[in-house]
Amino acid sequence: MQKNPLHPNPAEKGWGPATLAVRACEPRGEFREHSAPIYATSSFLFDNAEQMAEVFAGHEPGYVYSRFVNPTVRAFEDRLAAMEGGEACVATGSGMGAILSTCLALLKAGDHILASRTIFGSTIGLFDRILGKFGVETSFVDPTELDAWRAGLRSNTRLLFVETPSNPLLRIADITGLADIAHGAGALLMVDNCFLTPVLQQPIKLGADLVIHSATKYIDGQGRCVGGAVVGSNAVVGDEVFRFLRTAGVSLSPFNAWVFLKGLETLPLRMRAHCDSAAKLAAWLRSHPQVERVYYLGLPDDPQHALACKQQSGFGGLVSFDVKGGRDAAWHVINACRLLSVTSNLGDTRTTITHPASTTHARITEAARQAAGIGQGLLRVSVGLEDIDDVITDLQRGLGG
Ligand SMILES: *Cc1c(COP(=O)(O)O)cnc(C)c1O
Repeated sequence: MQKNPLHPNPAEKGWGPATLAVRACEPRGEFREHSAPIYATSSFLFDNAEQMAEVFAGHEPGYVYSRFVNPTVRAFEDRLAAMEGGEACVATGSGMGAILSTCLALLKAGDHILASRTIFGSTIGLFDRILGKFGVETSFVDPTELDAWRAGLRSNTRLLFVETPSNPLLRIADITGLADIAHGAGALLMVDNCFLTPVLQQPIKLGADLVIHSATKYIDGQGRCVGGAVVGSNAVVGDEVFRFLRTAGVSLSPFNAWVFLKGLETLPLRMRAHCDSAAKLAAWLRSHPQVERVYYLGLPDDPQHALACKQQSGFGGLVSFDVKGGRDAAWHVINACRLLSVTSNLGDTRTTITHPASTTHARITEAARQAAGIGQGLLRVSVGLEDIDDVITDLQRGLGG
């Protein structure tokens, strides 16, 4: 991978996570600007034919074309890699683009993916319907049971894929345990870290090989841009995934990269605020007579609370709960909201509310939904940055009490 000729500011050893988020890998141009510039250019100039040939051959550092690398995109990639504790990062036009690029770069016909059953719907579609067409087979297991992962391995398993915590029930997988299983089988472990971000969980430090982000969610954090990234080693991400991206062109735009780069600067602060408010909401829901069950890893009697404390440094901004009275009662809560946004997006400054059974999980059969534990009374809230008392007041309208 090219060395960035415009990088006077690599991450320094020993910097804490908030310093990395604000300072690591800032691009700096000839005008000594303080805030990162947006390099809105598709291609780059050379002094002469000799230099152009040297840069094209990779003998001299330099930018060629923004489908390959752009300075603003590179700054976002390098800062996210530093925050995740990985060697290299490749940014993509969306979170799905990051998963697709990594799979197409690393897998071939005849390979097998072992994935958690509870992953994002589009990821299931990508594995089943798209990669399946090209001879890559996927099978699905319960993410919480290490034995199920062990039993699901095949001689051609190349990749283990997990989202932890899962959506919408916030179940978690033991990342270190999964990394051992993957490596024992000669496979790689890929973790979708969208819900927690590097601020609350660093899968590479727990043994994972690849970390996927939908930057669309918490990294932007304000619901403006779509983008994604994959973080991993120089050999796998910096070389193999990068070579795929520069040819296939699922690249991130400089403007979106700039939004995400600035988003990273406030990510540690925002994640703490999301966590604090989610904890307060979970405690309030827990004591509400119309609420049957609350799904939130920060509750001390959650069966996975101990594992969450071990591998996460916070419980995240999502809270799910079962309302008594099934679908009608759940829809009543949504329809009574005046403040909360009725949308499936998450990781925004604004609190959002969704009914998974009729939206994100509507296309699976009722039997499959039951098996997954997604009932008609289930609601998922992505807690934003408003005053939590106002969010509670809004939910109270439909729940009563
Ligand atoms: C949104 C999301 C994705 C896909 O990201 P896009 O940016 O929408 O392509 C992948 N995984 C998880 C967990 C998500 O929430």
